[in-house]
Amino acid sequence: MRKVFLSLALLLSFVFTSFSQTMPEGFDPQLWQKALKIHKKAIIVDGHNDITTPMLDEDLDLSTSTVGKFHKDGTPFHTDLNRLKVSGITGVFFSIYVSGETLKTGGSMRRAVELIDATYREVEKHSDTLTMCYTSQDIIRAKKQGKICALMGIEGGYAIENSLYALRVFYRLGVRYMTLTHNVTHDWADAHRDEPRNNGLSEFGKEVVREMNRLGMLVDISHVSDKVMHDVLDIATAPVIASHSSARGVANHTRNVPDDVLKRIKTNGGVVMINFYPAFLDDDYNKAVTERNNKLKPQLDALREKYKDDPVAYREAERKLFEENPIELPSYTRIVDHIDHIKKVIGIDYVGIGSDFDGVPVLPKGMNGAEDLILVTYEMLRRGYTEQEILKVLGGNFLRAFAEAERVAKINSRKISAEGSLKKFKK
Ligand SMILES: [Zn+2]
Repeated sequence: MRKVFLSLALLLSFVFTSFSQTMPEGFDPQLWQKALKIHKKAIIVDGHNDITTPMLDEDLDLSTSTVGKFHKDGTPFHTDLNRLKVSGITGVFFSIYVSGETLKTGGSMRRAVELIDATYREVEKHSDTLTMCYTSQDIIRAKKQGKICALMGIEGGYAIENSLYALRVFYRLGVRYMTLTHNVTHDWADAHRDEPRNNGLSEFGKEVVREMNRLGMLVDISHVSDKVMHDVLDIATAPVIASHSSARGVANHTRNVPDDVLKRIKTNGGVVMINFYPAFLDDDYNKAVTERNNKLKPQLDALREKYKDDPVAYREAERKLFEENPIELPSYTRIVDHIDHIKKVIGIDYVGIGSDFDGVPVLPKGMNGAEDLILVTYEMLRRGYTEQEILKVLGGNFLRAFAEAERVAKINSRKISAEGSLKKFKK
């Protein structure tokens, strides 16, 4: 009996801490209450969170409050367990982010494996709050249990080190999406801001996509070149995601998804999950950043020289200099401009949330971290979105795409694992 009381108390404290946010000044109390109610009910899936890196490198324990704390490079933290609880998030994709530097130094696969282990360890430590999730049904189960799903997505396809064998092992370890590139082009896929070497996806790259579809691992087109986006959509038999990209029709950045690709995402049944980074949200902000950096170039060059052997100290000094020369951040409402755009171009069924928390140095004005996700919901309500539409954006659309990818994997006629590695595809 005592046990029952205890778990009841635990459950109540969870519900209480989850939804006890104070309303910002000037907000409509009725809409605010409605937003809170929606978060209580919704399955919310965030497509991309980079807190995994400090979990591994700095032994960060998610039960420690990160409010007001800073990463090694001086940028603020956005995530901890309580902030996630307050946000109402059901599923977080912990990013298994492998830096493009590993293409030079080696160790891409090892890095990915260590980040995966860091995720599992965190879930083991906090099994009262977190649970590993591998399927769309797992996410629904976690919601019922009042737990937060830890999902995993690899960022940087070179983590498989040109081996389909490794890709399959990553799937078996629980990885459910893979971003084909990060910012650098590699052996089989071209990145958004690097020289193309493969005219999009190489033959092996196409084999990777087919194998991912066969397995039920979502193909992620964030970070890739436009040609890769089209190559993927040419051959994908399952829904494709952009785990943390916004709409190029609103902000003209190569990290965002252009309208012609949006239209193909609709046909494909995929989801574009909006990134909260101001540089991807707003052209004016971007322009102001470029102007400021040009103005500060002599100082930045001097700092680069001074700290050439200490990149962390450089970033800290750079951050201080930027702090002394501030640029007005776009409001969090800009996020909803991107949702609006996608809704207008292809409908409400193909847009989601991919915050990039702890992977970006700044967030839009009004947002400090995961706990402020509610602001996006509030703004959608303020603009007249229906509850059904909001539930789709927060996670319903992702869940549909994920379930469809699982269905495709189940019925896939190519039952036998494709052999091979990149070597087979080179003469
Ligand atoms: Zn990224």
